Amino acid sequence: MRAVVIGGGVAGLAAAYELVHGGHEVALFEAGPVWGGQVRTFEIGGGRIESFYHHLFRSDTEIVALIEELRLGPDLEWIDSNVGMHADGRNYPFVGPLDLLRFDRVSPLTRLRLGLTALWLRRVSDWRRYEGQRASAWITSRVGREGYRRVWGPLLRAKFGAYAEDVSMVWFWGKIYLRFASREGGLFAKEQLGYLRGSFGRLVDALVAAIRAGGAEAEHGVAVERIDVAGGRVRGVTLAGGRVVPAEVVIATVPSPLFARLLPELPELDARYSELLGSVRYQWATVLVLALDRPLSGIYWLTMTDDDCPFVVAVEQTNFVPPERYGGQHVVYFSRYADPGDPIAEQDVEEVLDEYEPFIRRINPAFERGWVTGRWLFKDRAGQPIVHMRYHETIPPHRAPAAGLYLANTTQIYPEDRGQNYSIRMGRRVARLALADAERVRRRGSPAPTLP
Ligand SMILES: Cc1cc2nc3c(=O)[nH]c(=O)nc-3n(C[C@H](O)[C@H](O)[C@H](O)COP(=O)(O)OP(=O)(O)OC[C@H]3O[C@@H](n4cnc5c(N)ncnc54)[C@H](O)[C@@H]3O)c2cc1C
Repeated sequence: MRAVVIGGGVAGLAAAYELVHGGHEVALFEAGPVWGGQVRTFEIGGGRIESFYHHLFRSDTEIVALIEELRLGPDLEWIDSNVGMHADGRNYPFVGPLDLLRFDRVSPLTRLRLGLTALWLRRVSDWRRYEGQRASAWITSRVGREGYRRVWGPLLRAKFGAYAEDVSMVWFWGKIYLRFASREGGLFAKEQLGYLRGSFGRLVDALVAAIRAGGAEAEHGVAVERIDVAGGRVRGVTLAGGRVVPAEVVIATVPSPLFARLLPELPELDARYSELLGSVRYQWATVLVLALDRPLSGIYWLTMTDDDCPFVVAVEQTNFVPPERYGGQHVVYFSRYADPGDPIAEQDVEEVLDEYEPFIRRINPAFERGWVTGRWLFKDRAGQPIVHMRYHETIPPHRAPAAGLYLANTTQIYPEDRGQNYSIRMGRRVARLALADAERVRRRGSPAPTLP
């Protein structure tokens, strides 16, 4: 069977890897100049680092299994988590329950309510009970307005900005449940975060190498221009430049609006599917990355809770792994999820640094421009789908409305928050689904249903 996979992020790489394993003829095309999509990397001080900060949780078992499978297991490090909150000019460590009890920005009663609510959530494994509920309303009812405004509200704002109030309780459950459930030793155990020595770019490279070793064509810098469909079946793809690549199976891992653009006849094929693709709203992910000649703070992951702060998290990579990996430089990401209309969509690195500088000084009042040895700005317009209250009703099925055509992108990760683990799981599952469908057609001579 001949298959085309569109997109060389981890979902596309995992799908192509699975198909190659099954002995099929595969062609994988990535439009960007490098592999990896949202996990793409660059260099600082001779060390490789992700353009967008990345770590793993203990619950990320699919990616860990793949890392082992590709013989990178010995380089997967588990490091004690070092997270905190910034409020009113102070950095508060937030590593364990005792830190919560010391968080004097809220009353002792609110601290107790926050702790009890986290304990409660980690015991509830059935997320369906939260379907259709707003996280903001649920949290406020359990921890009060103060706890929401000072602690969990900022965490929601950090990801969803103006849409924070409308975020589904299922998303919030996933954040708490999956993080605590993965701690060995329960709530009082220290959280550990995973990192691949040398960056997750090594996993991306290993996947590309395995795909090519299996005989597949794998090219980056080559965009698919359209998906070719005739008689209700996918026939292949046409690349920018006009080359036609015939295929019985096409798996697209691109964001939903791009998928719709690759298949202009979609509204005629299935108006409902087309509507579902159109209904997703994404926040842009933006990060300003600074290399510094000294540390900024002592915390890896610092959530900014002040309302006026233009970035929502400061991620100091070198409080996670040592600065020696980046030629002795200290690396900090300043992250902001933004609406498509946000000025940052048009701004350059200097403009963003100018805007962020006074707020960086709130983290460390001694900070000066002279500390900065390198600066970069990265943006991804499909950074985070907005998981609103009725989100589950809007998720498009993997089987797209032409036999042999599949979609596997971050909008379909649910109820978990999007992450490499789930993109890999989805890529592999959708490849297996495509193979099972093809096998059914071969055996019975009847086409698979277009929708599950
Ligand atoms: C700021 C940020 C922080 C994150 N932090 C973490 C973390 O700590 N841990 C974690 O596990 N995950 C994290 N993630 C999530 C993780 O990176 C994603 O879940 C995962 O990388 C998504 O992979 P994907 O293949 O589904 O999509 P993508 O990576 O978006 O891949 C899609 C690919 O399709 C390509 N493409 C688009 N159009 C075409 C076309 N016409 N032809 C060919 N190719 C095309 C794109 O160039 C892109 O490379 C983070 C993401 C962001 C944005």
